[in-house]
Amino acid sequence: MIGNKVDHLAKEAFVHGADRVYLVEDERLEDYRTQPYAVALEEAVRKFKPEALLVGGTIRGRDLAGSAATFLETGLIADCTALDVDIETGTFLGTRPDYGGNLMSTIICPKQRPTMASVRPRVMKSLPPDEGREGEIIRVNPDLSPDDLNTEVKEFVPIERVGIRLEDSQFIVSAGRGLGSQKNLSLVEELANVLHAQVGASRAAVRAGWITPDHQVGQTGLTVRPRLYVAVGISGAIQHIVGIMNADYIVAINRDPEAPIFKMADFGVVGDLFKIVPALIEEFKKSHAS
Ligand code: FAD
Repeated sequence: MIGNKVDHLAKEAFVHGADRVYLVEDERLEDYRTQPYAVALEEAVRKFKPEALLVGGTIRGRDLAGSAATFLETGLIADCTALDVDIETGTFLGTRPDYGGNLMSTIICPKQRPTMASVRPRVMKSLPPDEGREGEIIRVNPDLSPDDLNTEVKEFVPIERVGIRLEDSQFIVSAGRGLGSQKNLSLVEELANVLHAQVGASRAAVRAGWITPDHQVGQTGLTVRPRLYVAVGISGAIQHIVGIMNADYIVAINRDPEAPIFKMADFGVVGDLFKIVPALIEEFKKSHAS
């Protein structure tokens, strides 16, 4: 854990399953900046020599992991969707979509240590919190030189986001190219509305300019973990699937019975979305009324 006055977060880490927190605190680490954070992480790693180092695949985490891996001269398996250890050899295994997402690769880092990997939030299920859990804090004093403080944060301008964040939604209805045009997006919005769901989208729908990129689900969009994910007119390309594979239930509506999305879906409706979606909206409205 790196930052300034962040020891209260150590408690949170214990509650969520950590046994030990290595706490690197310094007032110069108040704001995230690549160089000082990467140097602080490098120092801690050189001192404690972990076998593997996992970093959250957030915007900052990705930035930090790449820089720290460079300083440590080790390998980074970015954006893993599964992690494992080969019991025989003790080798750490990171699986991730590769070659433009067309296949899944399991990658090892045979020589350098630590093996580094980043994992996006919600790819793994978090442990249920255990409020009584305690752990050990090990304080690490970073040795930062003026050269490491090579940037200065002048101002933060937060991006305004209204409503529930898609990545935190329990119910999502997503629009794909099958909708045909932007005006038909209202169908998906209406279905989302009756289900109290948020609206997601495939990259094809985003690229067509029907909806903004912050709705995109998949490899280059968001990883979601809803209870229900309804894919409307989405074929189920692997780059989309990696973003939804941890949904509890996937419902697919597609007129092509061979669409790959049906291999993933728990429930599939083969047919024209322009008939099925209005019928579903009607039924859900009726069930809400009764
Ligand atoms: P299509 O593949 O065109 O599918 C449309 C579907 O709609 C078809 O299956 C069709 O049968 C169905 N359909 C058409 N009309 C109807 C109708 N009237 N009723 C019912 N069904 C109908 N994609 C993502 O989604 N997210 C990503 O993050 C992402 N990242 C990528 C990263 C890389 C490096 C690359 C190379 C690609 C990425 N893609 C991503 C793109 C991905 O490969 C697919 O091109 C994209 O997901 C296709 O979107 P789609 O399913 O909406 O469109």
